Amino acid sequence: MWSNWAGNETSPLQAARPATLAELQQTVARARSLRVVGAGHSFAPLIAGNDQILDLTAMDAPAVSCVQAGTAWVNPNALLAALSPALATHDVAFRNLGDINAQTLSGAISTATHGTGQSLPCLSAELTAARLIGPAGQVLTTDDIPLDMVQVSLGLLGILTEAQINVVPHYNLRRRVRLSALSDTLDSMHEKWADARNFEFFFIPFTGKTVEITHEMTTAKETKAPRDLDMVAVKVLKLARNAGRASPGLRRFLLNLLTLAQSDEDFVGESWRVLCSDRRVRFKEMEYHLPPEAAQEVLKQIIDRLQKDHADIYFPIEVRQTAGDDACLSPFSGGARVSVAIHTDASEDHQAFFNAIEPIFIEAGGRPHWGKMHSLTFRELSALYPGFERFCALRQDIDPKGKFLSPALARMFRP
Ligand SMILES: Cc1cc2nc3c(=O)[nH]c(=O)nc-3n(C[C@H](O)[C@H](O)[C@H](O)COP(=O)(O)OP(=O)(O)OC[C@H]3O[C@@H](n4cnc5c(N)ncnc54)[C@H](O)[C@@H]3O)c2cc1C
Repeated sequence: MWSNWAGNETSPLQAARPATLAELQQTVARARSLRVVGAGHSFAPLIAGNDQILDLTAMDAPAVSCVQAGTAWVNPNALLAALSPALATHDVAFRNLGDINAQTLSGAISTATHGTGQSLPCLSAELTAARLIGPAGQVLTTDDIPLDMVQVSLGLLGILTEAQINVVPHYNLRRRVRLSALSDTLDSMHEKWADARNFEFFFIPFTGKTVEITHEMTTAKETKAPRDLDMVAVKVLKLARNAGRASPGLRRFLLNLLTLAQSDEDFVGESWRVLCSDRRVRFKEMEYHLPPEAAQEVLKQIIDRLQKDHADIYFPIEVRQTAGDDACLSPFSGGARVSVAIHTDASEDHQAFFNAIEPIFIEAGGRPHWGKMHSLTFRELSALYPGFERFCALRQDIDPKGKFLSPALARMFRP
């Protein structure tokens, strides 16, 4: 069986693994239906449901082929973790990255994967040109399909084989981490987004506390990477949750200990090493991108609901901001958005919690992350994006037989 990272999506493994471009073209041309997989890190039902899963890991291509005038041609099916050091050998880097770099660039681009930073766009917005394989096995480029349609396209228009992206001169970042009171963070978050290159925070349920993280560019000397204590912290949060089932006082006591043990952190290193870390505790996630002015009220409502009705939830809530862009299906099209992410343990039921919170996101005009869990279908999605029906018409034009359209995606992209 194929399974995604969180284990909530599975499919009988009928994988096609072409090793050359010609084999890829043949595989796609001959298939009745298929879905291309990246690193399987999406929580949403994007891969399963068709005859075949197309796995591009056997295809050999240089990670970076040409760097010129602020752009680089790269192999989009390489992992971000491989692309960053390859770009560094050319003295360039991604402008921004998300929490991890275990995804492929294709997968990240296709779902509008983002980091945080008021002036920093998502990875899809960095795509400047691309080559793809269309449903008949034909080569397509961004001269044939408008770039703003390809940028966020979930593998529905073609299989990305080459990508040109914006890059910036190689840079180092300083990360600062500090504990704060929730009320202070909520009052100052917009100022902090305006001031810092990257600012984000995690709210720790049932503590009234947040962990604030800022990143600034620096020429200071690199320091030793701190021990990654995220996994330990999540385990303590779970332990406290379990203890709280017998005694709520014990949960409070353990959470207090955890917040006392949280020490301020100051780390300088290469941008991608500082921005990305491993996530070894498996979880399921829902994330909505909200108009910035709605974020404070939504967060208050969500935290209130969580603490009143969902004592079992122990994963922190993550809050970030991303700059606006012009891609047709980008959740950030039309202006910056504040992203609020909620999580449950991968092995625990998420339904009651996610079902309770999702209407709050929707009511506030939120758009779901394409790679994360949500319940929206064509009717709701077409109301969220001015260009949604144009994208669906183009998809139908390029792929009239729905070779790249699975049943789950048809509910979103077919009227
Ligand atoms: C632990 C963890 C941390 C995460 N952190 C963040 C974060 O900080 N920020 C954020 O925004 N998201 C984050 N995500 C979500 C993740 O970035 C996205 O779901 C991303 O799409 C996963 O990339 P992937 O390579 O695993 O692609 P998959 O999940 O395998 O595929 C995603 C989509 O890309 C398409 N695709 C893959 N390859 C191609 C190709 N060659 N051509 C065309 N389409 C293709 C697939 O068909 C699918 O529709 C995280 C996920 C996990 C599990």
